[in-house]
Amino acid sequence: MDLFEYQGKQYFARYGIAVSPGGVADTVEEAVAVAERVGYPVVVKAQVKVGGRGKAGGVKLADNVDEVRTHAGNILGLDIKGHVVRRLWVEHATDIAEEYYASFTLDRPNKVHLGMLSAQGGVEIEVVAAENPDAIAMLSIDPRLGLDLATARRWVAEAGLTMAAREQAAELLVHLYRCYEDGDCDLAEVNPLVFTPDGRVHALDAKVSLDENASFRHPEWDEYRATETEDPREKMAKEKGLNYIGLDGTVGIIANGAGLAMSTLDVVNQVGGTAANFLDIGGGANADVMAAALEVINADPKVRAIFVNIFGGITRVDEVAKGVLEALSRVEIASPIVLRLDGTNATEGRAILAPHLNDRLMTEPTMLDAARRAVALANA
Ligand code: GDP
Ligand code: MN
Repeated sequence: MDLFEYQGKQYFARYGIAVSPGGVADTVEEAVAVAERVGYPVVVKAQVKVGGRGKAGGVKLADNVDEVRTHAGNILGLDIKGHVVRRLWVEHATDIAEEYYASFTLDRPNKVHLGMLSAQGGVEIEVVAAENPDAIAMLSIDPRLGLDLATARRWVAEAGLTMAAREQAAELLVHLYRCYEDGDCDLAEVNPLVFTPDGRVHALDAKVSLDENASFRHPEWDEYRATETEDPREKMAKEKGLNYIGLDGTVGIIANGAGLAMSTLDVVNQVGGTAANFLDIGGGANADVMAAALEVINADPKVRAIFVNIFGGITRVDEVAKGVLEALSRVEIASPIVLRLDGTNATEGRAILAPHLNDRLMTEPTMLDAARRAVALANA
């Protein structure tokens, strides 16, 4: 689960990481109230879970109440990469002498934590990594040992932070690591981490992603869940009890079993298509589940064809076939459907469908044939 910047900063603050005083605002008047409380100049910041807000006009400095009104009014409702701004974070503005980058994340293949630190912050780290990879000091951290201050001191020196910033930065990094680890984050990123002209190091931005597997020991995460802006397709799927993940492609996918669903994604890609979703309908592919799955996929305007890939094991293919027909009698589906039905009672299943096949509902003998057909329809 990703957090908004303001939530990330509140998370940071709990672990003793310096952030600017500020407050959330959902209206222009609330923004003014926060600005009056924290004192001018302030920064008015769009709260959306996407990077590059600054460049998109979602981060503005304001010196007085009129500027707060103007900027808050402009930023609320702004569309930043498909995310509409509904909430602002207003904080006391900081003078910046230097902008750094710091993050902790998982290095899965090496089974360690990875710290990244750069004296060239404020810009996207992907850009630094591409243009000037030497400017990023990488640190592998053994999770059994953690990050101690001595190591952090060597690290800030290696990254070339300005002398006067090093001790505070090293301490902040130790706190940030504790936040990342004890706080069960997948990612804790600060960009920019700033050094001010009056000699303070603090976090000006916060990108925090929490590891949902640890939610059982964090009842306080409910407050973050309440503000989660879900993909409307995923929300609809969750309401229907489906295991669904939305993707960007044009081929809607329904499969039974997570392994088969993933293989289906691969095959669709292999034959030149793109998947619109991941959807595992599990063992109980009855009419209700099939209708729900088709409805969710049907609600995605990008979908041009639907690929139903069923391998009957405990699930009986004749039941699936009945389910498909019943679902089609209930829901009007905008895209053509290609079915690959195999396994237990496949012959019976195909026989049930045979009288109903047309150019909106078709079957193919193999997974590869079905993928080709669905992708051809989606790309037509
Ligand atoms: P992002 O663009 O989504 O990463 O949003 P950030 O919170 O990182 O803000 C973008 C940029 O705005 C930062 O890199 C800073 O250069 C600038 N900025 C943000 N807060 C302040 C501030 O308090 N003072 C100044 N001078 N600049 C700020
Ligand atoms: Mn940033």
